[in-house]
Amino acid sequence: MDLEWGKENIKFVGNSKTNKSSRRGCIPQIIVNHISEGSMSSMISWFTSPNNTGSSAHFGVSKKGEIYQFVKIEDCAWANGLTSGIENATAEMVIKRGPNVNPNWYSVSIEHEGVWAESKGALTPEQLEATKILHRYIIEYVKQKYGHTIQPSSKTIIGHYEIDKKQRPNCPGQLFPFVSIIKSLTEPYYDIKGHWAESLIRQAIAEGWAKGYPDGTFQPDKPLTRAEAVALITAALKKAPG
Ligand SMILES: [Zn+2]
Repeated sequence: MDLEWGKENIKFVGNSKTNKSSRRGCIPQIIVNHISEGSMSSMISWFTSPNNTGSSAHFGVSKKGEIYQFVKIEDCAWANGLTSGIENATAEMVIKRGPNVNPNWYSVSIEHEGVWAESKGALTPEQLEATKILHRYIIEYVKQKYGHTIQPSSKTIIGHYEIDKKQRPNCPGQLFPFVSIIKSLTEPYYDIKGHWAESLIRQAIAEGWAKGYPDGTFQPDKPLTRAEAVALITAALKKAPG
């Protein structure tokens, strides 16, 4: 994935009031998912307000699938730091580092617009697609800037409740689609498995004249737009002999 994608699709809205600090030399190792308990506009105004002296996040994903950024990945956001609850953390990466290492130093945090009492953490289709691409982007960004590969799994793609079970048991919520997000990162084009055209599609991808969507899906039964048809035919013609 090309990091240029971020320039076109992520809107940086953090300001001088947005809480942030140094990573203290730590490399981002985990991605922590949250539910914002409010609307996208309230998230933006709270994370840029001088009245907020205690919290922030790197990214926010709206129900419409828009992606906002408040804090640079190189900086530490204040989303899942040291609290009394960390003694009961269930996330392996957090337990390993012990209760004195602030998880904010080695995490990248994503807030998702939503209210737990309404959604239990389920995302809208647009929001799911956006957060899948954002996870992919963060992993690529960390690889390019730090030379570190976050291997996507349930150990590295986690929820706030795994850091602070006591105070944040419902962040991001029981219906948050961790499995689908991790699958999109570990099994490229997982949605063609078992499709009647699977072997033809895999061959077309391998030969370079068809590719999937940036969220890691191929969506084999989705109708082509005119632009996609042109791109496909152009790529096929370039590959044709003579
Ligand atoms: Zn949270």
